[in-house]
Order: sequence, then C-alpha cells, then structure tokens
Amino acid sequence: MKNFLVTGGLGFIGSHFVVEQVKKGNLVVNVDKVTYAANYDNVKEISGDKNYNFIKADINETAVIYAALKESNIDYIVNFAAESHVDNSIKSAGQFIQTNINGTFSMLEAAKNYYQELEGEKKDNFRFLHVSTDEVFGSLKDGEPAFTEENKYLPNSPYSSSKASSDHLVRAWNETYGLPAIITNCSNNYGANQHEEKLIPKMITNALSGKDLTIYGNGKNIRDWIYVEDHCHGIELALTKGQIGDTYCLGGECEMRNTKIVDLICDILDELKPKSNGESYKSQIKFIEDRQGHDYRYAISNAKSKKELGFEVSKSFRNNLEGIISRHCEGV
Ligand code: NAD
Repeated sequence: MKNFLVTGGLGFIGSHFVVEQVKKGNLVVNVDKVTYAANYDNVKEISGDKNYNFIKADINETAVIYAALKESNIDYIVNFAAESHVDNSIKSAGQFIQTNINGTFSMLEAAKNYYQELEGEKKDNFRFLHVSTDEVFGSLKDGEPAFTEENKYLPNSPYSSSKASSDHLVRAWNETYGLPAIITNCSNNYGANQHEEKLIPKMITNALSGKDLTIYGNGKNIRDWIYVEDHCHGIELALTKGQIGDTYCLGGECEMRNTKIVDLICDILDELKPKSNGESYKSQIKFIEDRQGHDYRYAISNAKSKKELGFEVSKSFRNNLEGIISRHCEGV
C-alpha cells in the first residue's frame, strides 16, 4: 500500500487517477481548490472509502500541503492541479500564472521541505510526479516527426507557456535540491467526466441540444488523442519505473483532424440517437474564426515510454468514443 497526495483530483484526469488508486487499496489525499472545473461526482464511487481523504485547498497554500504530506506519511505526490483550457488562457492568463507556475513552485517547496526530513527507504522511494502536456513543444507541420523527450520547448499559448514554466521549475528542483521528481508530457485526453468546455464533450452536448457544432478555422488541426485511463496507467508506470529527473512522453498513437473527430461523433450519434427529421447531426457543423495562435499539429512519440516503462495504449478510439457518447445519451 502506498500513500498518495494527488492535486486536482476532482478534475477530469486527476479523478480517474484517484478512483483507480483507491480501488487498488492505496491511500489517497486529494487536494483540490474546487474551481469551475472540479466535480465531486467524479469521485463519488470511492468518496466514502476509508482510504480517501479530501482537502479543499489551493496548491499555493504551501503550509497546508506540507502538513498534509506529514500527516499522511506520503510516498508519492502527483501534481495534476492546473488551469487547463487554452481558450480561457487567451481570454485571461492571470490565473494560469498563479496556479500553473506559482502553484507548482509552492508544491515543490512543500515537497522539498518534507523530503529533506525523510529517512531511509521512505526517502529513497519518495517521488514527485508532475503531469504536463505535449503543448510545451509547440506545433508540428505535416510530415514532421512526432515530439520526443528531446524536443526543444516552444510553447505558443499562455496555457502551454505556463505549463512549460512549471516543467522547468520541476527540473530545477530535482537538479538543485535533489527532489526525486519525474515529468510526464501527454497528448490530448478523452474519456468519461471531461468538462464540457473541451472539444469532444462540447460537441456531444451541443449536438444533442440542437446547437451549432462550432469548429475553429478550417478544422484541419491535428491532435493525438489518448484515452484517459491509458494516461493514468502511464503516470503510474512513470512513478514506479521511471528514472528520477527524467521526462516521459505519453501519447495515444491516434492522430486525428478536428473535423474527423466531429464527423465521427456525428456518425455515432446518427446511429445511436437518429434525429426525428432524418437529418445527420453534421448539418449542425459550423466553422468559426480561428483561435488566436492556434497550434496546427501535435503528435508525440511513445518510443521511450514503451521501452523504459512498458507503456502501451488501448487502440480502440471508436469503441471508447461510442462508450462516452452512449453514456451522454443515457444522461450518465
Ligand atoms: P481539469 O481542468 O479537468 O481539472 C483541474 C483540477 O484542478 C480541477 O479539479 C480544479 O479544481 C483543480 N485546481 C485548479 N486550480 C487549482 C489550485 N490552484 N489548487 C488546487 N486545485 C486546483 O484538468 P485536466 O484536464 O484533468 O488536466 C489535469 C492535468 O493534466 C493538468 O495539469 C493539465 O495541464 C494536464 N494535461 C491535460 C491534458 C488534457 O487533455 N486534458 C493533456 C495533457 C496534460
């Protein structure tokens, strides 16, 4: 049994990780500020478990984090907490700086102070895992090789630059203070419980409520989609098998244009919930002015994670998507 402190565990990805670890019999302390992106229902399956503790706090509250680490004798920190939506970062970047950069600094300070007091095996086995994104590497052109751990950081949005900054802080706390930290950079996630501001849930909800399916620009932008459960598995592998101070890229091996995703959602809905007027949901698609600084293509190589961690992805995008859409249709 391991003791985890997970931040942002009421959000999309963090909640999947929390539920999985509690089900495995580990203790999880979930620290979340409960922003608009949080949802208590995401963890309702395990919220009554004796091994689950919730602390409503901001990751900038260093003393609260430090006290939680001490009190629960933590082995692993997994830092998911972040402002995560690019559009919001373009409208107003301040909170992204505050949470993603200052918050990570606060987490590192709390972790460093706690780590320096540990001894023996407990100290040897302690890890700080920082969850980051492929967006720190910038944008690819068609035909360019997928991002690897060796790529230069070239973030383009306020969101990706705040995540890039946090990655640099994590690296420095490892190099300077010996904090046993690991970074994972992951591609676009999809799965149950994703906030409706993000592409896939937004398209499903808008389709079902008869609203426009708005796509930025010409919709040809490419993202690499990973199932959230694969991402969580990759994080666990990096924690338990990864080299201290190292970075691991985690991708879905599933590059797709935005238009293809929306078409697929419409095709699945046309089968599962055909419209009474016989029209396809595709009739609701509408192209709108492009997002400012919109990255064209992300693709990320799993070569190192496969070789060093034994990471694999489930290759059934359509099946996974059908599952998500069915649950939406049933209102689950
Ligand atoms: P999310 O927006 O769904 O959830 C974020 C959670 O963090 C929320 O529960 C929120 O309340 C909490 N939070 C925000 N600010 C906080 C603060 N100051 N203190 C404590 N809690 C705070 O995010 P997500 O999509 O689950 O992403 C989780 C992490 O994974 C982020 O670090 C993100 O950068 C990274 N990531 C996401 C994706 C993706 O496709 N969603 C891809 C790669 C990496």
